[in-house]
Amino acid sequence: MKIAVINNEKIKIENVENLHLNAQKGAIVKVLCCGLCGSDIVKFREKISPNGTVLGHEIVAEIVDINSSTDFKTGDVIVTSHHIPCGECLYCKSGNVSMCKHFKSTNIVPGGFSEYVYLSEEHLQNVAHLKPENLSLEEASFYEPLGCCVRAIKRCDLKEGANAVVIGLGSIGILMSQALKAYGVNVIGFDLLDERIGFLKSKGVDAINPLNLEEALSYVKSKTNDYGADAVFMTSGADKALDTALKVVRNGGKILVFSSTPKNSGYPNNEIYYRELTILGSYSPSPADLKDSLELLKSGKVDVKNISTEYKLDKIQQAFEDTVSNKIMKACINIGTEGNLKEKI
Ligand SMILES: [Zn+2]
Ligand SMILES: [Zn+2]
Repeated sequence: MKIAVINNEKIKIENVENLHLNAQKGAIVKVLCCGLCGSDIVKFREKISPNGTVLGHEIVAEIVDINSSTDFKTGDVIVTSHHIPCGECLYCKSGNVSMCKHFKSTNIVPGGFSEYVYLSEEHLQNVAHLKPENLSLEEASFYEPLGCCVRAIKRCDLKEGANAVVIGLGSIGILMSQALKAYGVNVIGFDLLDERIGFLKSKGVDAINPLNLEEALSYVKSKTNDYGADAVFMTSGADKALDTALKVVRNGGKILVFSSTPKNSGYPNNEIYYRELTILGSYSPSPADLKDSLELLKSGKVDVKNISTEYKLDKIQQAFEDTVSNKIMKACINIGTEGNLKEKI
């Protein structure tokens, strides 16, 4: 079977032996498509993952062999995520499931950018679901990334009618903004690219360009009774965005950190202290967040049409490059389907 592996500065296609279930519990799935996540880009670019790593985790796949006590069967098309919390440790019990040791150590094998993948029984029991029939393959591939957004929103614990600003309208910003709206929060999206502002508006969410920051701030104030945003969601890792976040958040408000910053700069101590700010991070979803994500997709409350650009597995290097250069918003790799990813199989 073909896999895409990190090979120094490139993503290369290699041929490896097929996977077999043998007597193991779990399933072998044929990967139909796999979304290219921002975290894959960071792992590749910052050389966090070693040579030989198969990236990718946002898969939609068909079960081709199974030995499981679940109801899944051969031929089922499913969505799944890659990590599973233990449910027992201090992190799990405190709601920080993504810090759980077991969560971090579980994965799909060898990775999503592969023709076939092994899923453990734990995956099948906790994070796999049948693909809803009304979703195309491409739409269903947003199950995991939208789950990450759902978790971030829950962590902020905002009241209905609260005001949020989402800084950075890449694919995650587009998901976050729509999901916030679905939870009854008023949203204004910020991005420096006018086409992304237009795109979010086409999804029914307000957005502006903060190039003229003073104007953008007074716009937010005009919508928030002069207070500023109750919460700012940082889906951009640009250093300048930190400054914008501090200006747009109201005193006593929250800043939700959702991306790494290249220079690893932080938030100033005195702003946090004098303005009673809460800065919190959110990383990776729990099984419950994933379930909610699937509902949001299925109901159409989060509309993910026209976000992804489709690439064949052989062109995965191009997909990485086009994402990095902002030529596209998000790539979805067509691995195992003859048709295109807009089809609902
Ligand atoms: Zn992801
Ligand atoms: Zn745990």
